[in-house]
This record gives sequence, structure tokens and C-alpha cells, in this order.
Amino acid sequence: MTKTNSRLWSFIFSLYMKNPIINWTVLEKCKLIILLSSGMILSWIVWKLFVLLHPELWKYVNIRLIEIDMWVCSLTLTVLIFLMYLCHYHAHRIWIQKVIPIVTIYLFALVLYHGSYMTGSLSPATAVGYISTAVIGLILFDRWLIYITLIPATLLLLIAGYLSLKQYIPYAPVFNIAALKPSPAQHNFWVGSMVFFSVPILIGFFGLFEILLSQWREREDEIKRLSQLDFLTNLLNRRSIHQVLDHFHQTRAEKNYAVILLDLDHFKQINDQYGHHVGDQVLIAISECLTQHVHPLNNIGRFGGEEFIILIPETSLSAAREIAECCRLAIQQLNIATTQDNIQLSASFGVAISSLQYEASQILTQADQALYFAKACGRNQVRTFPEYIQQNF
Ligand code: GH3
Ligand code: MG
Ligand code: MG
Repeated sequence: MTKTNSRLWSFIFSLYMKNPIINWTVLEKCKLIILLSSGMILSWIVWKLFVLLHPELWKYVNIRLIEIDMWVCSLTLTVLIFLMYLCHYHAHRIWIQKVIPIVTIYLFALVLYHGSYMTGSLSPATAVGYISTAVIGLILFDRWLIYITLIPATLLLLIAGYLSLKQYIPYAPVFNIAALKPSPAQHNFWVGSMVFFSVPILIGFFGLFEILLSQWREREDEIKRLSQLDFLTNLLNRRSIHQVLDHFHQTRAEKNYAVILLDLDHFKQINDQYGHHVGDQVLIAISECLTQHVHPLNNIGRFGGEEFIILIPETSLSAAREIAECCRLAIQQLNIATTQDNIQLSASFGVAISSLQYEASQILTQADQALYFAKACGRNQVRTFPEYIQQNF
């Protein structure tokens, strides 16, 4: 692949990943609609050129109408190019932001309506175009904008269908229906034309729908992920920690789980001395240190300001104590390089193990009591709930 090609692909990829279509500005969405409208007009022009260049087909069409319609299509294409210019170069103007979406959508509806009437309001191409436009429009734009366009367009199509039925106006005027024998649906030219009109719309519709849907799912996953994490440290937040704890608690009959609570010692002094910003850097460094020293299957969360929690499944009190001790040492040895100074600090740990007679909230309270016992004993140490009981009762 050439350098330009790979740059183009990475641009498209970044556009696709970083700015989902659903988040585009209204004018960017208008550009997309203008491109789609132009595509429809171009396919319409190609079809007419093909017919004009094949005299043997002239008996199946209204050749005079096709010639006039060529001019209508060229004029519409010029208007679309002008709209694209306005969207691109005058996007900052308020009136452009207000007027262009309405003009674009109406023009798109007009292009579709025009093509539908010309080829027959009950033709497969009309059905495909109508459904695709309505679905994509409702996803991309404000619903009111689509309804105020779709309702008049639908009424026009119905009225045109009724007037054709009563033979006040011709049905599918671009075709010479009488020449399409035995019936249009059994005639190669009519069927081929319908396929030619419908297939690009279907490909465009499914392509766009697929992109929108996959971007939507990615966004959902990202929102879900973000709702589970702590904003500052990227560890689990309190809500997700409670979910994990509930899950562990439900299976505690077969496997014990441990709760380790840790609180940074004299953290307020760091904030007071260096400011909140440096305090935040320290919290991030501590969370990274914990992530490095705790097995990925264990769950680390930020429980509150400078308090962290580790939930360990299938473990014993002594094994959990060892993990806490390992983290305590790692924090004590940590040299945190911040924008202002190299900071060293310590943390105190409280450990509790699950048992059948206690609720999850009680195990948490036990870990908390062990933690404050560790603080009372002089900080920078690990204490378990049984040690707290032994000492105090
Ligand atoms: P101890 O050893 O008794 O735990 O003392 P301490 O100073 O750590 O405890 P204290 O509860 O008095 O202070 C905790 C401080 O943590 C107070 C608060 O300003 C700070 N803090 C809480 N959340 C954040 C945060 O998100 N960022 C920063 N920078 N500081 C925070
Ligand atoms: Mg503290
Ligand atoms: Mg605290």
C-alpha cells in the first residue's frame, strides 16, 4: 500500500473511531445527505444516458421526458454542489446552521419523490428508497425534521398514486408502460431498471446502517466501561466494587473471599504541601502500583478519596494478608516523581475474610475496623480483623 493510501485509510479509520456519525454536527450530517442525494441523481443520469445511447430501448420509454429530465437532474446536481459549498465554507454562520438542514432534507425528499413518481410510486425502487431514507433520517436527525418532510412526501406519493389510478396523470411517466409486454414485471428492461435503481440504494443503506450500528455498540460498550471505572485512577469505582462484592458473597458457601482496605497515611499533608493537583498524581501512581502488584483476577477499586479496596476471590486470611503486605512494601518503596518533588508515602491496611454468618456489608465493616486498628497501631502496617478482636476484646 502506498504512503498516501495508508494515510487515507488511517484518516478514515480515525474518523470512524473517534467521531461516530451519530455525534457529527448537523452540517456534517447534511454533507452526508448531500452526497447520498448526489449519488442518487448520478445513478439517475447514468440510467438516462444508457437509454439515450441505446436507440433500441427508446420504444420502452418517454424519450422526450428523459431529455428534459436530464436538465432537471443537472440543475439539481448544481444546487447540491452549492449546498455542499455552503456547508463546508460557511459552517460557522448561524443562519446556515439553521436553514441548510431543512433545505437539504427537503431537497433530498424532492429528489426521492421525483425519482419515485417518474419510475412509479408503487415500484420496488420507491419502496426501497422510502424505507431506507426514513430509517436513516430518523437515526441521524431530529425526528421533527424527518416527520415534516416525510409526511408531505408520503401524501404527495399517495395523491400521485390516486391520480394515476383515476388516469388524471400518467403512472411512471418515464416508461412507456404499454410497450412493456406482457407486463412490466415480466419485461427485462423494466426489471433491469428496477434492479439498477434499488441495488445502490440498498448497498448504501445497509453499509451506512452497519456503520451506525457498530459505532452505536462501541459507544454503548465505552459508556458501560466508563460507568464502571473511577474517573481519576481508572480503577473500579465504588458501585462496581459493590457489584463484585455481591457476586463473591453469593458464592461464599463454596469459596471464601477476602476484603483488603487500605488508606494512605497522612495524605492530607501532601495536598496541603503540594496542592490538590500533585495529590491527584500521587493517587494515580498508587493505583498503578497496586495494579502491578495484585493479580489481574483480583479486583482493585477506589473506595473513597485516598482509600482503596482489593477484593480477592477463593482465598484464605493468611494469603490475603500476604498480598496486603506485598502492596504495603511496594507503596513504601515507591518514589513518586511529581511535577514538584519526589514523594514517598505509606499506607495502612485492614484485612477481613468472608464467613457464612456475616453479610457482605459486615465483612466490609470488619476490614474497616482492622484498617483503623492499623492506623491506631502507628500506620504503615497490615492488620486483620481477628487481630483487632484479639487486641480489643
Ligand atoms: P490518615 O493517615 O489518618 O489517613 O490521614 P490523612 O491525612 O490521610 O486522612 P484525612 O482523612 O484527614 O485526609 C484525607 C485527604 O484526602 C483529605 C482530602 O483532601 C484528600 N482527598 C480525598 N480525595 C481526594 C482526591 O481525589 N484528590 C486529592 N488530591 N485529594 C483527595
Ligand atoms: Mg489517609
Ligand atoms: Mg481516609
